[in-house]
Order: sequence, then structure tokens, then C-alpha cells
Amino acid sequence: MEQKVALVTGASRGIGRACAEALSKQGFLVAIHYRSQEHLAKEAADQMPGSKIFQADLSSEEQCKELAKKVKEAFGRIDVLVNNAGMSIDQLITFAKPSDFDQILDVNLKSVFNLVKSVSKHMMKQKSGRIINLTSVVGHTGNAGQSMYAASKGAITAFTKSIAADLASFGILANCVAPGFIKTDMTDALPEQAKESILGKVPLKRLGNPDEVAACVCFLASDGASYITGSTLHVNGGMYTN
Ligand code: NAP
Repeated sequence: MEQKVALVTGASRGIGRACAEALSKQGFLVAIHYRSQEHLAKEAADQMPGSKIFQADLSSEEQCKELAKKVKEAFGRIDVLVNNAGMSIDQLITFAKPSDFDQILDVNLKSVFNLVKSVSKHMMKQKSGRIINLTSVVGHTGNAGQSMYAASKGAITAFTKSIAADLASFGILANCVAPGFIKTDMTDALPEQAKESILGKVPLKRLGNPDEVAACVCFLASDGASYITGSTLHVNGGMYTN
């Protein structure tokens, strides 16, 4: 049996890195995507036998296409696509800049569209595949100061339900993993007061770890998840999501 291949975007650090490491431990060959921090991507690759690193700015349609092409050429197949790369610019709506909204949509949402479009072609030929999109609790609940980010993540949820229907007959399953507040560079950047207010909303009274998100991604990539598509797995310490 050929070893399965997983492409993880934004895999040099944070949740993406944890997903890449966990998938590697499950026996996947991992295509580690990074944008700016090559040394971290190389360090990650050293820990994962058979992995390779790929650079791309995913806000560019062209670079998304190139990334999918290069990974297919390097490994000959793509079995799992984890759309993890993402960013946020937080701002009260009144002062939010249209150019910031464009950037958030390009990085968080359009990259998912562009990568799914390219990678699903290969998966269709293989007649199998798993697409796992990282959304956020904030895409379900909303959050003050995060209207642009929440809109991008909420859109991925609707997109994922739709592609799950598009691709089911080709043996391709598509799901979301929606983290709550997880300890990474993204949450380290929050002011102390915001962190305290977040903790107040988490019944488990702590931030999550990237490994706890990665375990859910691994499950959705595994044989055990073969009847799950169009769903969201919430990993948020018990926060209210409706
Ligand atoms: P992070 O530590 O800030 O890392 C973000 C990753 O995205 C980095 O690998 C970065 O690559 C990549 N990235 C950013 N802009 C990019 C671009 N234009 N092109 C390509 N890659 C780009 O984030 P994280 O906390 O691990 O979050 C990972 C995912 O989980 C994101 O989608 C985030 O929205 C979601 N999430 C996180 C939390 C949380 O509490 N941390 C909660 C809910 C959802 P470089 O470092 O190479 O630039």
C-alpha cells in the first residue's frame, strides 16, 4: 500500500504544526506548507520522516494553484488537505478598514476555495480524499472586535457543507474543526484583559492546546470518520456555540 499524503497549510507553527506532527505519527507523509518562516518549517520537517516543505503566500490564487501542483508532483498523490493557515485583524466595526477585510478574506477564505478547487481534482481521480477546514468558535458565536474574522470563518462552515455535497459521490469527505481559544501565537498576541475575559467564558477554565485540536483533525482524517461529512467538530472546552 502506498503511504498516504497530507498537505497541511500553515504547518510551521501553532495548530498547523501540531496537526502535521500528529498526522506524521499516524503514518502520513506530510507536505508542510509555510509562508514566511522557513527555518521553522525545516525544523518541523526534521521531526517528520518523509515530509517535505513548500512555501506559498496563500492570499494569491496563483500560489495556491502552484502549491497543489508541487505537492502532487513531489508525492504523486494528496489524500488529506488540512486548510489551517489563517490570520486575524481585530477592530471595532466602525473603524474596520475595507483593505483589512479584503486581506482576511483572501487569506482565510479564498485560499480555502482555491486549494479545495485544485486539490479536489486530484482527489476525484483517486476517488477518495479528506478535506479538513479550520474554522473557529467565533464563526459560530460572533465576537466583539472580530466581525471580519468571524465572517471569514462562518463562510468556511457554509462552504464546507456545500462542498461535502458536491464531492460526496467522488468519495471525498469535507469537514470543519472549530477550535475555541487555543494557546498559540494568535492568542498570545491578545491583551491580558481579553485573555481573562475569554477564560471566563470557558467551562473547562483553561485555553486548549494545539495537540487537542490536532487529535480531532487526525480523527477526521482516519478510517473511523468514514461516515462523517459536512460536519463541524467543536474543540472549545465547552463554550456555547449556537
Ligand atoms: P498562528 O499561530 O497565528 O499561525 C498562523 C499560520 O498561518 C502560520 O503558519 C502562518 O504562516 C500562516 N499564514 C498566515 N498568513 C498566511 C498567508 N497569507 N499565506 C500562507 N500562510 C499564512 O495561528 P494558529 O493559532 O495556529 O491558528 C491556526 C488556525 O486555527 C487558523 O485558521 C485560526 O484562525 C484557527 N483558530 C485558531 C484559534 C486559536 O485560539 N489559536 C482559535 C480558533 C481558530 P507563517 O508563519 O509561515 O507566516
